[in-house]
Amino acid sequence: MKDNRLFNETDASTDEPPPAFAAETAESSALQTSLFSSMPVQADFSRWNNWTWQMQNRIRSIARLRDYFPGLDSTGIHEAGAKFPFAITPYYASLIRRAERTDPVFAMSVPQMAELFDPACLKDDPLEEDEDMAVPGLVHRYQDRALLISTTSCAMYCRHCTRKRVAGRRDTCITRTRLERAVKYLSMHPEIHDVIISGGDPLTMSTEMLETVIAAVRSVKSVDIIRIGTRTPVVLPMRITDDLVNMLKKYHPIFINTHFNHPVELTPQAIEACGKLADAGIPLGNQSVLLKGINDDPHVMEELLRGLLKARVKPYYLFQCDLVRGVEHFRTPISKGIEIMEYLRGRVSGLGIPLYVVDAPHGGGKIPVLPNYIVSTSPTHTVLRNFEGQMVSYPEPGPHKAPHTGKTDRGDSAAGIWELSSGQHTKIQPQNCARLNRRETRKQTAAMLSPEA
Ligand SMILES: *Cc1c(COP(=O)(O)O)cnc(C)c1O
Ligand code: SF4
Repeated sequence: MKDNRLFNETDASTDEPPPAFAAETAESSALQTSLFSSMPVQADFSRWNNWTWQMQNRIRSIARLRDYFPGLDSTGIHEAGAKFPFAITPYYASLIRRAERTDPVFAMSVPQMAELFDPACLKDDPLEEDEDMAVPGLVHRYQDRALLISTTSCAMYCRHCTRKRVAGRRDTCITRTRLERAVKYLSMHPEIHDVIISGGDPLTMSTEMLETVIAAVRSVKSVDIIRIGTRTPVVLPMRITDDLVNMLKKYHPIFINTHFNHPVELTPQAIEACGKLADAGIPLGNQSVLLKGINDDPHVMEELLRGLLKARVKPYYLFQCDLVRGVEHFRTPISKGIEIMEYLRGRVSGLGIPLYVVDAPHGGGKIPVLPNYIVSTSPTHTVLRNFEGQMVSYPEPGPHKAPHTGKTDRGDSAAGIWELSSGQHTKIQPQNCARLNRRETRKQTAAMLSPEA
């Protein structure tokens, strides 16, 4: 019953035919082979930069992978690729440097044996989205937001995908009947102000079909903002055409969230695609997934976040890996995410720091997870620590009788936490603090920079 609620109802055949993306002609694979033996010098760039060409020429077999990587070890690829959908755009495949698991792009896109390992805690629908489906394809979990599954197709099937039960199951976009039902539900629920058009990847639909969906959602008066979740800037940046951005611009306020996981994905072409969207007035956010061996490293994460900011993309969420089947080899302990967040605070621009969240099993929604910054509390004071390990006491608003000893705080470091929570001292100061060392040298610096010097 549960499975029947998504995309295999009888109404699925009533209108728009699914986009014919899966075709792999002899001609196109011949071109693909020649492209790779001569790339990039003699590549046919007009085709390469055509997104439908990229879609039609996706790698979906070991034989095609071998065209790119002759020495490929294909153990497990067939088995895992048969279990979970497999397709890689030639563009994304061109970012692979080594045909090995240690290559982040390879690991995110090429099926592997480890996906078949099936611990009981991993589910098909870990977030219980099917249970929160108000009408087919519309997930209504939070009061003011709803998520519309507009297509089951993606340009590249991420090995870590949470929506594997949907993505790539059949390449189909939403039917008119379904869209009408979703719109009706939205109209009957004026508390929904934010609709997320998701999938699959909505930008694999034709611009016309996407416009039909956006216009339908936009027709609901109580919907304020429309968000689109898409990985195309990462795996198919040529999808961001002038036609597309001109269409999107008509339906503002539109926000886009994309999904970069590793700095190698921030190619000049991907950055240009983001720039185009930003120039169209679309605020861009990024949702990364914390993946073992790919971005579970503070320095890799820092490089990714800095690169995103330069591309005018605001890091929005860092997701703990969901408990979805086929991802056991990608999971990290939550402590790894906390370690990374600890590293980032105070080191990277606040604009560049995403919120680390665990999307709760059983559909409870996103739960923010932070290092502990509250050290202690009393009715009069909250003791906090910063990224340097400095402890400070924040006096709560009165009226209250702070147990002051009568002595005024001399600004020295307290003997212990109780002295802070009881209001006798205001800080505990670690030694060798870069920030305080800067204060020390400030006078010297000022003297050096002054014109008299
Ligand atoms: C993540 C999610 C949203 C959006 O949540 P935000 O925190 O506003 O980004 C909405 N609906 C569902 C079902 C989601 O999973
Ligand atoms: S683009 Fe999104 S929906 Fe599609 S496979 Fe990747 S994570 Fe899943």
